[in-house]
Amino acid sequence: MKAPPTDSALRKAIIETAQAMSARGLSPGRSGNVSARTAEGMLITPSGVPYDALKLGDIVPVDFEGRAPPRSLKPSSEWRFHLDAYRARTDIGAIVHTHSRSATALACARKAIPAFHYMVAVAGGRDIPLVPYATFGTAELSKHVVAGLQQRNACLMANHGQIAVAATPAQALELAAEVESLAQMYIDVLALGSPHILSDAEMDVVIEKFKSYGQNAQRAK
Ligand code: 13P
Ligand code: ZN
Repeated sequence: MKAPPTDSALRKAIIETAQAMSARGLSPGRSGNVSARTAEGMLITPSGVPYDALKLGDIVPVDFEGRAPPRSLKPSSEWRFHLDAYRARTDIGAIVHTHSRSATALACARKAIPAFHYMVAVAGGRDIPLVPYATFGTAELSKHVVAGLQQRNACLMANHGQIAVAATPAQALELAAEVESLAQMYIDVLALGSPHILSDAEMDVVIEKFKSYGQNAQRAK
């Protein structure tokens, strides 16, 4: 069995992911945040610090009681929904939250992403849902996010942005980038007229096929 990553390997992965998120234009300004699960809770990006300047010691440990060490930087204002998501989803190891442009535009129009393209199944279901609005950093927002992540690995957040979860920070960023690309396409399709939405039955076939897609499992027969 592979040994779990060390504390400093996780800090490095968080910084690399946050910087890649910013370089890829997925988190305008200082928006967004990245975290990874640890045995005691999680490690998370500090609040409002530009990603370019991040050093290993700037990443903040937060335990399962929501406590950070007294001399650490202030954790992301969204530490609550990160922590609550790790509690609710014991299968995930990392979370990326971004205000990526097209996903956020749809979230501000209060539109979820339906099965206009089969790839919406990357988020684990027949659509990419939209969770209700609540003020950033609140327990109420955390409740909405946790409910949205119960059935999916990504969702849009009304008037705010998107969130993606996976095993590692790099994988969570890949999913967030895929959600952004689908959001861009969906906006294009909406501009052309009414999209054709794939049926639930077809999406169930796709979801099943995804289990053996690429190198996900043994060769499909
Ligand atoms: P932080 O810099 O506190 O993580 O806030 C950014 C953000 O996206 C809040 O929702
Ligand atoms: Zn945000």
